[in-house]
Amino acid sequence: RKKIGVLALQGAVREHVNAIETVGAQAVVVKHVVDLVDIDGLILPGGESTTMRKLIDHYQFLEPLRAFGQSGRPIFGTCAGLILLACEVVGYDAPHIGLMNSVVERNSFGRQKDSFEVKLHAKGIGEDVAAVFIRAPHIVSVGENVEVLAEYDGRIVLARDGQYLGCSFHPELTEDVRVMKYFLMMVEQNGEKCCKSDQL
Ligand code: GLN
Repeated sequence: RKKIGVLALQGAVREHVNAIETVGAQAVVVKHVVDLVDIDGLILPGGESTTMRKLIDHYQFLEPLRAFGQSGRPIFGTCAGLILLACEVVGYDAPHIGLMNSVVERNSFGRQKDSFEVKLHAKGIGEDVAAVFIRAPHIVSVGENVEVLAEYDGRIVLARDGQYLGCSFHPELTEDVRVMKYFLMMVEQNGEKCCKSDQL
């Protein structure tokens, strides 16, 4: 069973743990840097990106998180997690973790639409994928090799850059676990790559 960690400094951790177990992987609650050693993939949950960043700095997680991604292991950023993962955040001089080749803007979906649920067509994932948006960011633009997987209201809300997956919404707040299944597939394929090169 693949082990998928959830960064548990702040935000929607429990719901991700449930979704991970539902798709048949083992969930690991990541509270300390050492917890990163033994996991095959990592989820950066939704919450408040500025608060999460403060805690990341406090627990000296920033470099270990960068190294985790650069080691080739998949990372999935949801909502605030997407903001942490992006290489550029509109209005900020520097990114947070800065791994996913994309520009992200915070709080993109207007006041009256602070929180809402829609169904999305997501490439390679399915039709009518349930997506809950809560003061959600959106992806303004993506780099060359980044695959746009879903848009809503003319804006990119789900994209994949190699081992990095990012979405504007909260997939874990619905019963629909197809986006999590897709992430597990990324983790499994990454494992295959590792084993194959081990045999060389
Ligand atoms: N608005 C939050 C931020 O900027 C993200 C909201 C969320 O994760 N639901 O960090």
